[in-house]
Parts: sequence; structure tokens; C-alpha cells
Amino acid sequence: MSDSQDYDLIVIGAGSGGVRLARMSAGRGARVAVVESRYLGGTCVNVGCVPKKLFVYGAHVHDELEDAAGYGWTLPLDQVSFDWPTLVANKNTEIERLNGIYGRMLENAGVTVIDGTASIKDPNTVVVGDKQYTTAHITVATGSWPVVPDVPGKECILTSNEMFYLPQLPKQAVIWGGGYIAVEFAGILAGLGVETTLLYRGDLFLRGFDNDVRQFTEQEMRKKGIHLEFGVTIEAVEAEDSHYTVKLSNGNVMETGLVMAATGRRALVDGLGLTELGIELNASGHVVVDDYFQTSVPSITALGDVIGTPQLTPVALAQGMVLSRRLFGDGEGEVDYTAIPTAVFCQPNIGTVGLTEQEARVAGHTVKIYRSEFRPMKYILSGREERCLMKLVVDGATDKVLGAHMVGPDAGEITQGLAVAIKAGATKAQFDSTMGIHPTSAEEFVTMREPVA
Ligand code: NDP
Repeated sequence: MSDSQDYDLIVIGAGSGGVRLARMSAGRGARVAVVESRYLGGTCVNVGCVPKKLFVYGAHVHDELEDAAGYGWTLPLDQVSFDWPTLVANKNTEIERLNGIYGRMLENAGVTVIDGTASIKDPNTVVVGDKQYTTAHITVATGSWPVVPDVPGKECILTSNEMFYLPQLPKQAVIWGGGYIAVEFAGILAGLGVETTLLYRGDLFLRGFDNDVRQFTEQEMRKKGIHLEFGVTIEAVEAEDSHYTVKLSNGNVMETGLVMAATGRRALVDGLGLTELGIELNASGHVVVDDYFQTSVPSITALGDVIGTPQLTPVALAQGMVLSRRLFGDGEGEVDYTAIPTAVFCQPNIGTVGLTEQEARVAGHTVKIYRSEFRPMKYILSGREERCLMKLVVDGATDKVLGAHMVGPDAGEITQGLAVAIKAGATKAQFDSTMGIHPTSAEEFVTMREPVA
């Protein structure tokens, strides 16, 4: 570390990965600044994981109210009403609280927060407004931004960014896309009483997830009254006040009150000056780095959504910790991208870790499949027709559990524990010798005795 420069490290972007890197590095004695143009906490805190989960909780209340009667509660359901602006306002209060916590965390760690938009002038100089800062290291942690496909009328199509601040809920909505964000928002809107249609260009949404999970989720979402249309895409949108006419690739036309695209996210590198410095971007626009987050310029590193690894907060956090150790610690450590557990907070939730059945077969494993499908106990008295799916993918030769997949209540919560077992290389015999917790849905994961394939 050299005193001839203003800082040892300037991190561009105060999202999950950038903040973790900055705090850890300051803790190791580095002089660190973070430049942020928008909001502390990045996508996750402001327009992603956190507000999304709060909306998901809000949408679930509807089911709880419906289920109450079977447990003896008398609720005049026809008199129950929902106020969207209240949910948004309460969510905003919570996000502001978290923004404050992030600010204090950085301050307490001794990190300087610079408010503004950064560009990189040379390998050791960052420009923010009319100021220039010199530094030994620069890390690009600028994240990603929603992409709206280029169709006529794209300017009136919303993305998840705007959905978090929507002033009023429409009666009807069209969601375009079939990934995480599309299915999560379909569940949120439908749960809050919006007649929701999800349009996906392929045969079946949630590409990359286990096929059983995809089919089961389709079935359960349809049961909830969500319209799912596959093999179709949007060709144009026309807006008149708050009414939208959506022209589809199959020749049909839909009338709706809102169109939202959840068609992926691109790396946010605009205006940074990376290509001018000779930093390579790959075909999808992500910053090219090596296993240690090093770009082609020795003093410049990058992490998080901007480098195209799985766009998940825990991945960015892990990268921040490894990079800090590399820059200012013992230089040890690598991020292990195997068996990353993930949840999709659609309704019901999806939880998944490890290989899908299809991936395991392609990888050459002799696969044994254990599968269980049942109605969760909670829904017996309430009469809800929702079902739960659990599936284990096991290597027939070694007995190792290669993957665990679930669709059902609390799938995200349940999958986290399974991820530890799978990461530790647990065998099916070890799952079988684990006592269940009775009565839970989760115990099914240790009581599936007979393979179905
Ligand atoms: P995804 O990449 O998950 O899904 C994008 C969807 O849009 C796919 O169904 C894709 O279809 C479709 N699509 C892409 N381009 C077009 C196009 N030109 N026309 C029509 N359809 C198109 O992106 P999301 O935006 O849903 O989410 C971004 C990332 O954010 C996720 O991958 C995930 O990593 C992260 N995330 C994680 C969450 C969680 O952990 N719970 C929640 C939300 C987001 P196809 O499959 O055919 O390519």
C-alpha cells in the first residue's frame, strides 16, 4: 500500500459485492472509497431480493386469509380489501432503513462513500464529476440492469425497477419472460388480485431448472389462476393512457393495464470507459476476468453481476470476500461455484441445489431418482388443492446425492440445509439414516425409500 495515491482501493458500485469487498478491505487496513451514483445496497436491497420478498409476503396473505375458514376463523372475505400504496410505502420505509444501515456500516468500517457517477481515466485514476482520485486498485462492481427487447412501444414496457414503485395496481397485467423475475412477479401480482398473464417464448418456462420442477410449477401456477402462455412472444405494444394493446407473435392481440418485461439483465458498464482502457467484454457484454477477478488491466478487477457469474447476492458476497483476501490479505481462496442453492419465490416457492436430473444424465451419471408428491398437511383442513414436489437425484454408482429439488411452501428455507449436505458429499444412505422432523414437509427428503427411475 502506497501513500502516494489517494486510496488503496476504489470500488465502483455499492451493491452487495462492492460493499462486502470495501468493508473487508478496510478491515484489513486498506484505504478504501466506494463510488455510488444511485443507492446504497444495489439491486438486492433497492429493486431486487429484499423488496421482492416483502411483496411476496404481501401476496401470500391472500392465501392465508382464504385458508382461515377451514381452521374455524370467520372472515368476511368479501369485506377484506388490499391497499397497494400502503404496501409500497411500508416497503420504502424498510428500504430506507436498510440504506441507512449500509451507510453506517461503511462509515464504521472507515470506507469513504463518494456520491456520483464514476469513470476510469487510467489504470490508477477514477473520475467522479469534476474530481479525480488516484488509487492502487480499482474494482468494477456496477451490477446489472433489466433489458427490454427492442420492439415497437418498448418505452411503455415496465421492468422490475419500476414495478417496485408502481403508484397503482392495474386490474390486469402481462408479464413477458419465463425466468426468475417473471414467475416471481406473476405470483406477486396474482396474489394481490391482478389478473395476470405470463408470456414465454419457449415450450416451458424456467429453462435450466429440473424438468419435473418446471412442469409442477406450471401446474400449480395455473391452479392459482395465473394465465401461462408458452411459445409466444410480444411483437409490439401500443399505449393509450394506462391501457395497453399487446400484439403477439401468434397473431393474437391482448388488452391489458400493464406490461412488464422480465427478459434478463445486462452488465451495467455504460460510461465507465472500460473498452477505451482495453478491458475485454465478452459477447454478452460482461467484463472478462480470470478466476481471481482480474481484468486484462493489472490494477483493475471486477465482480458480481457485471462479470456474468450467477446473478445472485450470495455469489457477489463470496466474490467480494475472496477478492479482498487476494488484494489485501493472504492471497488465498477461490469462489466455489458448484452446488449453488437457489430459490425462486414464486407461489409455491421453488428450492433447488445441485444437478438437475437432465444435467446428471448428460454428465454420464447412472442416475436414481427419488420423487415424492403430496398435499402439505397445512392444506388438508383448509381444503386448498395445492401440492408439493420433492425430488432427489442420486448417483447410482457412488450413492452420492447430486441434486435436491422442491416446489412447495418454504422451499427456499428447506433447501438451505440440504445444500450443506450436498456440498459435504452426503450419500443417499446418509439421508436415509437421518431422523426426520415430524410432522413437517421437509422430513420427506429423508424418507423417500424407493427410486422411481
Ligand atoms: P432470466 O435470465 O432468469 O430469464 C430471462 C427470461 O426472459 C427467460 O425466460 C428468457 O427466455 C426470456 N427472454 C430473454 N430474452 C428474450 C427476448 N428477447 N424475447 C423474449 N423472451 C426473452 O432473467 P430474469 O430477468 O428473470 O432475472 C435475471 C437474473 O436475476 C436471474 O437469472 C437470477 O440470476 C437473478 N434473480 C434471482 C432471484 C432469486 O434468487 N430468487 C430473483 C430474481 C432474479 P429463454 O429461457 O428462452 O432464454
